[in-house]
Amino acid sequence: MGHIYKTVVIGGGISGLACAFRLRQLGIQAVVLEASPRPGGMISTVRRNGFVFEAGPQCPRFPASVWNLVRELNLEKEFVAGDPKAKRYILRDGRLHLAPFSPTGLLATQLVGRQSKYRLLSEVLRNTQPPAEEESLAEFVGRKFGAEVSDYLADPFVSTVFFGDAQKMGMESAFPDLVEWERSRGSVLRGALRAYKSKRDAKKSGNGASRRDSQAKHGGLYITDALPSLGSFRGGMATLAEKLAEKLGEDVHFGAQVESITAACAENPPSAATWQVRAKGGAEISAEALVLAVPAHAAASLLQQKAPKLAALLAAIEYAPMGVVSSAYERKQVRHALHGFGFMVPRREGLHTVCTFWNSSLFPAHAPQGAVLMTSFVRTGTGGWMTAPYDVFAETVEAENAKILGISGPPIERTVWRFPRALPQYNVGHARRVNEIREALNEFPGLCLAGNYLTGRSIGDCADTGFQAAEKLRSRTHN
Ligand SMILES: Cc1cc2nc3c(=O)[nH]c(=O)nc-3n(C[C@H](O)[C@H](O)[C@H](O)COP(=O)(O)OP(=O)(O)OC[C@H]3O[C@@H](n4cnc5c(N)ncnc54)[C@H](O)[C@@H]3O)c2cc1C
Repeated sequence: MGHIYKTVVIGGGISGLACAFRLRQLGIQAVVLEASPRPGGMISTVRRNGFVFEAGPQCPRFPASVWNLVRELNLEKEFVAGDPKAKRYILRDGRLHLAPFSPTGLLATQLVGRQSKYRLLSEVLRNTQPPAEEESLAEFVGRKFGAEVSDYLADPFVSTVFFGDAQKMGMESAFPDLVEWERSRGSVLRGALRAYKSKRDAKKSGNGASRRDSQAKHGGLYITDALPSLGSFRGGMATLAEKLAEKLGEDVHFGAQVESITAACAENPPSAATWQVRAKGGAEISAEALVLAVPAHAAASLLQQKAPKLAALLAAIEYAPMGVVSSAYERKQVRHALHGFGFMVPRREGLHTVCTFWNSSLFPAHAPQGAVLMTSFVRTGTGGWMTAPYDVFAETVEAENAKILGISGPPIERTVWRFPRALPQYNVGHARRVNEIREALNEFPGLCLAGNYLTGRSIGDCADTGFQAAEKLRSRTHN
């Protein structure tokens, strides 16, 4: 028999690390078991020859909860802000067009024709209702705006942000606000305007003040609007995970792949251990509480014996594969000015590239002077791309970028990743399944889930699930 820990957190990605960090702040003893030799999971940075290559988030949003973490970890000086107004482009017929984010941008764009523009701009004047059954994003956009808007405006965004397929993504599951706005106001735009107004009024009135007071009590931030909303760190996104792991010190065990978890008798008095966790080649650890901060499929295989119903629900969550190719060039090799965020590629264009970020334009410190760095997310679902040799895979993507951006010659540096299961898909039925998961979880007091399949895939959503798990355990775990 090994140690008895109050809480074992399985998984050292942002969800698990944030959870363990908050548990420690709450005075609860916790240990993190992470299968790989480094912290961060999907957040992974390679620093080489002056370049900062990112596997996961390139320039993510920093909501208030993540900003709180940044402050608590004293990482403000390492933070580098991204420009939220940096131009984004969308490819159509081989040419880059500015992505339209305003009515004037929409009127000017050549991405969609006159009829699509009319349907978009006149939505506010129409009255529609969502169907009773959850519809897919493609059905929703097709019903309200037509196939061209779905193909050239919706698809590139959801492919880039969720690696999602508009034909499968569920409106209630991925965009519940839009459904609610249409249901309550008969128009998405009218609903959005009303929601914006209510939020603004609440801020002006006492509600905002009392919310800020309660945030302040918990060491929160007062003025989130004044903080940069997008960014990274001088040393890349892994800085956040590395700092969390550093603070947790010896309580994070790397190379600890958990192979099984079993629950002891439920009638045990609360002070006794109720979970046994066995890691590959390691001792058995006993814990009063367990947080599974691993992908849904990994949680499913750990729970198969003890909680088959919960495991089946978790196993049914689909994950999309994704490749990432990050390539560096001398500035003079690239004809395009690369002013902006980068570009997105609609599926209809028939390329492997989903989007390309211009990293060195967003963060000049992420490439040495005289060089540029760009990172492409790549569709790997078909054509054997998950198993093709790395250089063949990368060269295919680089050739697509070369044509669009006018690049001559091979890259001077490159890093390639492939993820067979990169992100969970918020497909039709996902929201219902997550509710069922929460119900099934009620049978197991002392067991919590955290991760990107619950409330959203962003790092803020993930950290929040970790914090919530910690708060839930506070009421159960005894010091
Ligand atoms: C290419 C890409 C781009 C992205 N871009 C953005 C972005 O711009 N903005 C944004 O906010 N988010 C973005 N995300 C999403 C975000 O990075 C992830 O949702 C988030 O990092 C997931 O964190 P997690 O801790 O829940 O899971 P993970 O990062 O998957 O961590 C889970 C950890 O559990 C470990 N583990 C698994 N099984 C076991 C086991 N049996 N025993 C022990 N350990 C185990 C794994 O090794 C892993 O470290 C992106 C993701 C990807 C892949």
